[in-house]
Amino acid sequence: MLDPAQQILKEVFGYDQFRGHQAAIIQRLAGGGDALVLMPTGGGKSLCYQVPALLRDGLAVVVSPLIALMEDQVAALEELGVAAVALNSTQTPEQQRDIADRLRRGEIKLLYLAPERLVQPRMLAFLQRLPLALFAIDEAHCVSQWGHDFRPEYLQLGQLAELFPQVPRIALTATADKRTREEIVQRLHLQQAELFVSSFDRPNIFYRIVLKDQPRRQLLAFLEERRGEAGIVYCLSRRKVEEVAAFLVQQGFAALPYHAGLPSEQRTLHQRRFLNEEGVIMVATIAFGMGIDKPNVRFVAHLDLPKSLEAYYQETGRAGRDGLPADAWMAYGLQDVLLLKQMLANSEGDDRHKRVEQHKLEAMLALCEETRCRRQVLLAYFDEVLPQPCGHCDICVDGIETWDATEPARQALSAIYRSGQRYGVGHLIDLLLGRENDRVRSLGHQHLSVFGIGQTRSEADWRSLFRQLIARGLVDVDLDGHGGLRLAESCRPLLRGAASLQLRRDVGWKRQSVPQHTS
Ligand code: ADP
Ligand code: ZN
Repeated sequence: MLDPAQQILKEVFGYDQFRGHQAAIIQRLAGGGDALVLMPTGGGKSLCYQVPALLRDGLAVVVSPLIALMEDQVAALEELGVAAVALNSTQTPEQQRDIADRLRRGEIKLLYLAPERLVQPRMLAFLQRLPLALFAIDEAHCVSQWGHDFRPEYLQLGQLAELFPQVPRIALTATADKRTREEIVQRLHLQQAELFVSSFDRPNIFYRIVLKDQPRRQLLAFLEERRGEAGIVYCLSRRKVEEVAAFLVQQGFAALPYHAGLPSEQRTLHQRRFLNEEGVIMVATIAFGMGIDKPNVRFVAHLDLPKSLEAYYQETGRAGRDGLPADAWMAYGLQDVLLLKQMLANSEGDDRHKRVEQHKLEAMLALCEETRCRRQVLLAYFDEVLPQPCGHCDICVDGIETWDATEPARQALSAIYRSGQRYGVGHLIDLLLGRENDRVRSLGHQHLSVFGIGQTRSEADWRSLFRQLIARGLVDVDLDGHGGLRLAESCRPLLRGAASLQLRRDVGWKRQSVPQHTS
């Protein structure tokens, strides 16, 4: 005998088993309790309120900030024969009246709406006269001012606790850090909620981050081994999306561009082809992906650095939803760091906001430069501890070589200091290598004590060193467009000789696939 929840799972949704915490969450809600659910994207959050909505009497009210997502869900539910509707501002007054009538007659099981609509006094009064099964608050991290998805309307959802004390509430999010979690509990008055935290690990995804050298050739080498497979290639700019897509088509791949600047018919067409045809590569900006539920995406490649680990996790998480092996591949280099820092400096927003974004970018850089297992670093950011290295990322498989960079780092810091803390990486390397070119001569820099002190190392070594100094925040970049370097406060112990510095040794991309041993 199946219990009622399992019966609904099977008969309505066509699935045999609940995943992860789904069964426990559903039980909690069905019994009238509140729940806070942290589950990665693709983990199956929707069923956590859709099943209890069908188990309990009355109407389930689902709050979501994304109209497109609401409409997808309603369409999917209708197809399964579940009475669901979405209320939105594009509907005519007649349509809205019709929905209200159906709600009054109890003909609807799930009502989807945006938070600003739910908290209108008329809507709240209307709902108070109906029997309600539950409230589901999707994307609950939108209530957090710490996150970048903050929506002021979400703050008003706290009043549901007082207005509907008998109605169980479930808040769901894929953002898992502790700070956000605490804010959700406090602002949505979920002190009584049982907490369900799923692991954010995606064990079937292999993570690899390579040093950007010749990005197109590197991408091509990665894709050659995956011909015929579906994947996404993310780029930062629209122009680059189009160029890379054209390049891949030239190389015989079924690649399509996708970005917000394309006509909407073209975007829809490309999206449909990606979803329905085999082996299509979508070359896209981050405009692509929200609500894309294609299980057999075999890889996600980044040609540019995402601006946070949340973004990296979300984007790479679109690979391997079917649980089969998938790859997250990224090429990263000094230019990415400079570009993102610059974008951040020029962005709108107050200082507090910029500090938050800065902090997030630093965590992203740390993932690239860390000498620890990628999965451990990534999960640690979401407050999850993976006790052992994963054995399924480039660092675990290839190993990593580190070297004592204390002395050359001091030389590089002196070069920055002696030349007046205003020159970019290129000029500083010329100084260290003792290259007496026109620029050096016109500045009289051939007379500096640091001139030529770094001749025992190659230009590539120095580039690697400067990149890591910047990524680790030991050196600041002037963001006036010239990229001049300055000493950061944190480099003092190193300069004084009170600290040493271990850096990772860069591996050329042609050697990357050859396993290396940990030093
Ligand atoms: P989320 O909202 O957490 O991103 P969804 O609710 O959209 O995830 O679910 C992701 C996918 O997993 C959907 O295609 C959904 O139908 C499927 N799914 C969810 N739960 C189960 C289950 N118990 N068995 C099989 N498939 C499931
Ligand atoms: Zn690992």
